[in-house]
Amino acid sequence: MRLPLRLIFSIPLLIILINPTPTSAHFFPNITAIPSSLIPNTTIWAAFSNLVGCKKGQKADGLPKLKEYFQYFGYLNTSYSDFSDEFDDSLEIAVKTYQLNFNLNATGQIDAETIKRIVVPRCGNPDIVNGTSAMHPGKPSANSTIHTVAHYSFFPNRPRWPPSKSQLTYAFLPENQLSDVVKTVFSRAFERWSEVTTLTFTEISSFNRADIRIGFFSREHGDGEPFDGVLGTLAHAFSPPTGRCHFDGEENWVIDGDFLNGAPLSAVDLESVAVHEIGHILGLGHSSVEEAIMYPSISSGTRKVELADDDIMGIQELYGSNPNYNGSVSSLTPTGERETSGASRVDYWLWERGVLLVVGFINLSIIIHLDFFT
Ligand SMILES: [Zn+2]
Ligand SMILES: [Zn+2]
Repeated sequence: MRLPLRLIFSIPLLIILINPTPTSAHFFPNITAIPSSLIPNTTIWAAFSNLVGCKKGQKADGLPKLKEYFQYFGYLNTSYSDFSDEFDDSLEIAVKTYQLNFNLNATGQIDAETIKRIVVPRCGNPDIVNGTSAMHPGKPSANSTIHTVAHYSFFPNRPRWPPSKSQLTYAFLPENQLSDVVKTVFSRAFERWSEVTTLTFTEISSFNRADIRIGFFSREHGDGEPFDGVLGTLAHAFSPPTGRCHFDGEENWVIDGDFLNGAPLSAVDLESVAVHEIGHILGLGHSSVEEAIMYPSISSGTRKVELADDDIMGIQELYGSNPNYNGSVSSLTPTGERETSGASRVDYWLWERGVLLVVGFINLSIIIHLDFFT
């Protein structure tokens, strides 16, 4: 049988598309190991600072790039195509939505606080998928010591790993040749999520057979989501059950996470970003809670590896809770638009009844005690 000529020519192209060239990533045991030649003077988004004070009706040189930024992260529709230097209605709506998602004053104008957020390195996954804001912005309720508004989100249609896949495997792209030290960072990151759910994560050597496939790449790498060099976007991950998780190989990834004495502009904590991306692999979207792991951005020289209550509530809504987990999450009540799963509702119900029972028992003891002595 003869293959059509066009097919023969397209085979090499296909191989290139499905086999993007991986990168040898930059890992440093600590911040002092980063050579000065790899520390930039500025970041790729720093030029946005010139736009402070810009508002609807004005023109500015940097606006086409800002529109690209907002489209990349979902704030402008994919169909939006007016990349002129004009601040139009669509950009104003995009800025307002961004400000709401990041708990800023939603003025629709580009103020200094908004720019301060925009230039922070971040995850490449969009904050808004299919035009729907997924970050659920909002303020904590008045009684914030007891009730906290939930802001965690999911991908559209809430994809999750099926119950038959609670024992997940992961593997590293062999071409990256990661050291055991780097692999240990990932195993710690996976543990954060297995502590609060019944999911388990086991490293296997076969990259192709693993449920979760971790790789470091530079620039364009075959999935239409090119990385951008030092800072900017740091990593991205796909929704379940895809399991693909990509890190920007050009970042200066720091292993020990020790930034107590400051850090150069380019230092990014590997474990912090790994915990975040695993959240996506499991089905979580971005959250507007700044303390949450699933908050979209993280400043260089920052370590954030502990799951916040918002993250825990989100992941337990998808997978239920780990019976051995004894954290504080059950003391929080999801409110507002969020509906919790049967599992977390039952946990809360039991916790609430438990407290009432204990309080009732103490009251009864006091009454009996007083009766006895009077
Ligand atoms: Zn993300
Ligand atoms: Zn990618």
